[in-house]
Amino acid sequence: MKYSIVYQDREEVAELHTEIEAETARDALDQVDCQGVDASWQYQEDANGSASYVDPECPDRCYRAVPQAYECAYCGAEVPIEDAAALPAADDATEWDRLSLHHYDQCEWIKTRGSQATV
Ligand SMILES: [Zn+2]
Repeated sequence: MKYSIVYQDREEVAELHTEIEAETARDALDQVDCQGVDASWQYQEDANGSASYVDPECPDRCYRAVPQAYECAYCGAEVPIEDAAALPAADDATEWDRLSLHHYDQCEWIKTRGSQATV
């Protein structure tokens, strides 16, 4: 899984790293040098697969690892995170062709168009 590392200070957001290869968001954070982070910073996980270290003195300041890709549950290919929620209509061939580029040839999810079609 690839992650990007983002530093946020209130309204200001800066992308520090991209394409950090790690098993989990926490691993990704631990791979980079998060300046000023010590044991007092609170680690938290978010529902969307990202995770952060939050400054105990300023809850609006954090380092966050955000997934750039997710692993297809069917074929195991790494798929861009923008496509994570994609489920085009079964007859939308153009869109399924586009999605299939990121999956392996025999992917069940692509073949069945997200279980909408039988093969
Ligand atoms: Zn797949």
